[in-house]
Amino acid sequence: MNFHIMTLFPEMVMNALSESITGRAITNGLISAEAVNIRDYANNKHKKVDDYTYGGGAGMLMQADPVYLCYEDIKRKTACTPRVVYLTPQGNIFDQRMAEEFSREEDLILLCGHYEGIDERVLEEIVTDYVSIGDYILTGGELAAMIVVDAVSRLCPGVLSNSDSPETESFSDGLLEYPQYSRPEVWHGKRVPEVLLSGDHAKVDAWRHDMSLLRTMERRFDLYKKYVQSHPEEFVPKKPRRKKKKTD
Ligand code: SAM
Repeated sequence: MNFHIMTLFPEMVMNALSESITGRAITNGLISAEAVNIRDYANNKHKKVDDYTYGGGAGMLMQADPVYLCYEDIKRKTACTPRVVYLTPQGNIFDQRMAEEFSREEDLILLCGHYEGIDERVLEEIVTDYVSIGDYILTGGELAAMIVVDAVSRLCPGVLSNSDSPETESFSDGLLEYPQYSRPEVWHGKRVPEVLLSGDHAKVDAWRHDMSLLRTMERRFDLYKKYVQSHPEEFVPKKPRRKKKKTD
């Protein structure tokens, strides 16, 4: 998986991505990430990439041309025509389902805006996906792009040392993850739930599923409702057992 991040702040992006799990994945060649400076594509002496907005209004706007030239340059280097994700508060809210979808791409371009955003005309020409990380306004798309790279890259094969973990994590099955415990067995007088020490895997799985349901119901009722609707078989009330009549 190759991430191409179009930005005015390449160092900010690369510094963050070169740490921790993404950093290790880059070093081991499991993913690649390049931050491409849009400013390098400005056709003027001062490398200026922003200008006033037509119609007036506060703030500056990133101009179409440097963004387009930067995109064309990246596209030339990739074998296919990659999806271009514009990080914007006007996009669909990023979630695990989207992260899974993006993780199936070979190349992904992430476009970071700044100032008041980017000239609409270039967005119309190159953007395939408009993605927001939440209903608030950031100063630039860099933090949002880093969040997307982080969430997507940990789904790429080999990036996590325990390849099982993405499947059991929150959202993977529509539920939040169950509570987890490590040593010691008793901490501040609180014992690890007995079932987790039992060695009975079926019981542990059942307990974890129940805890996931409970946690999702308590913390994210919206997700819980969706889960109940899509798994009706789990919520069918069980028939009470008839008592056997005594036969004398
Ligand atoms: N004027 C724009 C609007 O009202 O939609 C907001 C521009 S914002 C100050 C500058 C840049 O930050 C945007 O172009 C976008 O790339 C990024 N950005 C801001 N909030 C974001 C969010 N919630 N999710 C993703 N990107 C965001």
